[in-house]
Amino acid sequence: MTTSAELIEMSERRSAHNYHPLPVVIHEAHGAWVTDVEGKRYLDCLSGYSSLNFGHGHPKIIEAARDQLDNLTLTSRAFYHDQFAQFCAGLGDLTGKDLILPMNTGAEAVETAIKVARKWGYEVKGVEPDQANIIVMEGNFHGRTTTIVSFSTDPEAHDNFGPYTPGFRLVPYGSAEAIRQAVDPNTVAVLVEPIQGEAGVLVPPDGYLSEIRELCTAQGILMIADEVQSGLGRTGQTFACDYEGVVPDIYVLGKALGGGVVPVSAIAANRDVLGIIQPGQHGSTFGGNPLACAVGIAVIELLNTGEFQARAAKLGEVLHARLRELIGKGVVEVRGRGLWAGVDIDPELATGREVSKALMARSVLAKDTHGSTIRLAPPIVVSEEDLVWAVNQLADALYELNTA
Ligand code: PMP
Repeated sequence: MTTSAELIEMSERRSAHNYHPLPVVIHEAHGAWVTDVEGKRYLDCLSGYSSLNFGHGHPKIIEAARDQLDNLTLTSRAFYHDQFAQFCAGLGDLTGKDLILPMNTGAEAVETAIKVARKWGYEVKGVEPDQANIIVMEGNFHGRTTTIVSFSTDPEAHDNFGPYTPGFRLVPYGSAEAIRQAVDPNTVAVLVEPIQGEAGVLVPPDGYLSEIRELCTAQGILMIADEVQSGLGRTGQTFACDYEGVVPDIYVLGKALGGGVVPVSAIAANRDVLGIIQPGQHGSTFGGNPLACAVGIAVIELLNTGEFQARAAKLGEVLHARLRELIGKGVVEVRGRGLWAGVDIDPELATGREVSKALMARSVLAKDTHGSTIRLAPPIVVSEEDLVWAVNQLADALYELNTA
């Protein structure tokens, strides 16, 4: 058997170093647990950055994928196929929107929303395409394409990848007033994460999303909510915008829409917005393919039961209550909603990386972000017992670091 150490060495030798993975080589996973090549088990507290909301290998999702693999996997959009209509109708109903434009990755869906907003701005508002601007937030993460990194404020994502795409205006996250001041007659949209995931699970002040909604309506511009990471059950609601009863003009979805099986993303919007896209103006060979749609349909059916949203809300209370008990014991702050937490570790005690490694040694896989933050987002199928156990591992790891 090739060992983890050997596989890591081989991976590092033959792959670009565009990630900094924890030294674990996963071989198998079921539910909330993964097993490495040596047979050691870990509780997954990252869920593929919220792509595995329904757990690894959810039977309904796997069954849908298997059935589809046996029948039809790809047609391209040159033809219709029998899974497409149901996927679009299902996602349309889930979002309450008329139309769906399917893509593959989150970044592609964000790019799609940007293109739609600009073309809508031209056709509906009369904004010249070379003049249009979209208001975006400091600390944003929307993906890694050249246009998207043009307005990233993370130096690693942004620096030295120019020339950059113009047409974006950065304002501080959490300030509706800053957006109000930045809007001008050439503004076509506001692009916002309802919770900033990659920035460390930053929850904006109450009322922020509704203020953006009101402002966009008043100004006649589009509100685009990037729910790629926050959507589809993670926060205890179908969409994080639901917490404020806010309906954006465009939902951007990805990650969990593919059930952890295939990349599936989409934007959802009403006909007056998405109807401006005509044949030939946007698309992707794999966007809306039969396998993606079959898996997406299974995901939508799971969400339609409401069970996952309710479970994430209930377990989220347990998670946050337990994590808050660690404040002053190595933890400085706990943020988040539902089964999603950003935990700031006392920087004097340890870096996030040191804590994620200590957790790994204790069979918990979590992701460190930005120096001293740890993110916890286990699959929603995690048992309450395992969830509490994971937080206890964090408590013990911090205690150990403190006394080392
Ligand atoms: N938007 C948000 C809010 C995200 O968190 C991410 C991924 N972390 C993306 C977009 C990009 O998704 P992908 O990696 O599938 O391109």
